[in-house]
Amino acid sequence: MNDMNPSGRARTAIVIGGGVAGPVAAMALQKAGIEPHVYEPYAPGTGSRGGPITLASNGQSALAVVGADRGVREAGWSTPRMVISSGTGKVLGAIDDLPGLPPRVTLPRGALVESLQRSAAEQGVAFSFGKRFVDAVDTGHSVIAQFDDHTTAEADVLIGCDGIRSAVRRSIDPAAPEPRYTGLIGFGGYADGTGVSDTGGTWHFIFGRRAFFGYAVEGDRTGWFANLPVKRLDRAAVRDTGFDEWMARLRTAFADDAGPALQVLDRVTPEGFAPASPLEDVPHVPVWSKGRIALIGDAAHATSPSSGQGASLAAESAVELARCLRDLPPAQAFTAYEASRRTRVERIIAAAARTNQSKAAGPVAARIRDAVMPFFMERFMTPEKSAWQYAYTIEW
Ligand SMILES: Cc1cc2nc3c(=O)[nH]c(=O)nc-3n(C[C@H](O)[C@H](O)[C@H](O)COP(=O)(O)OP(=O)(O)OC[C@H]3O[C@@H](n4cnc5c(N)ncnc54)[C@H](O)[C@@H]3O)c2cc1C
Repeated sequence: MNDMNPSGRARTAIVIGGGVAGPVAAMALQKAGIEPHVYEPYAPGTGSRGGPITLASNGQSALAVVGADRGVREAGWSTPRMVISSGTGKVLGAIDDLPGLPPRVTLPRGALVESLQRSAAEQGVAFSFGKRFVDAVDTGHSVIAQFDDHTTAEADVLIGCDGIRSAVRRSIDPAAPEPRYTGLIGFGGYADGTGVSDTGGTWHFIFGRRAFFGYAVEGDRTGWFANLPVKRLDRAAVRDTGFDEWMARLRTAFADDAGPALQVLDRVTPEGFAPASPLEDVPHVPVWSKGRIALIGDAAHATSPSSGQGASLAAESAVELARCLRDLPPAQAFTAYEASRRTRVERIIAAAARTNQSKAAGPVAARIRDAVMPFFMERFMTPEKSAWQYAYTIEW
């Protein structure tokens, strides 16, 4: 394939996965003059489904490079403030978005993916749905992807955007680490008519006595999520536990906490409830690329949801990788991409892991946390101190 390209730079790309990283990578590759084709197992149209996700200013800045930021903002609502409290109702601190940057936007996870896929399709990116990547062969001058329907595709490079359980990651490094369980089970969704007042663009986070609860209300709609500490994970039990039983467990967990958790849970329906999922991260993926194949997004750097940064980092890496491929042949591009990304993403993954420990604190640790956190937030969670995370931009 690249025999036709004397510069040695890639001209075509297979993009595996059409979640967050995939469509953004495809738009950025196209902008870089490389023709992408996205392969995704699931048909589009999950729109309003999934729990709420927030996209921070740095993620929106990355999307702006490919002209996909406006669509995402239109699909969500602005939530520039976070207020953190204890289970007793004591406010531990507040964080405001940095002035001059786009405010954090909240939207259903499915709506984020749908908006990015729509923007990519409008820009002429080709998608093939019903395609699950199985393996790849690097011929030395091209890469051939194999799908579970026994079809193949060939291009100059292959970008693995297939999420935390990446098959592309496994294909370039069979010894790659598996996702790590954080000790928390995640729940979330939307509920209508909870009676909780509009929070005016604020997310409230409550470090409860037994579990963590987050909520934001716009009009009649409440976006919410909960993190329930469960030390010993039994995946089959999580999968087999039904909606009613989870609701009963969550009600018990939040029974003694200040705040509207019980009021919100009362209005949650099975339709507005994303399935319970063990929260995971992958703190260090040793191999990000091999030959003509590279990883981005959760496949390379999966942070647990506590960072509120996974989707933003996926968008950043997508743009940065395409920028490197624009200027360099694949091997050098992949090295340059990793050099510019690894420290930043692993720092954010590590910070989220520390937050997870606070969420799963026992009674004594929780008392210390509640006493120390106001001081910590005042000193270290100021807009200036978090600018490295949120004011980050990529010069295209
Ligand atoms: C409960 C929860 C809450 C979260 N909240 C936030 C938040 O508020 N803010 C934030 O920024 N991040 C949040 N995240 C993290 C965020 O969702 C991820 O970091 C982000 O989706 C990563 O994007 P990705 O494209 O790398 O992976 P994904 O979004 O997982 O997309 C991977 C895609 O690859 C496809 N795929 C999988 N296997 C294959 C295969 N073999 N072949 C082809 N395609 C395949 C999948 O179908 C999927 O479409 C949250 C995550 C969870 C679990």
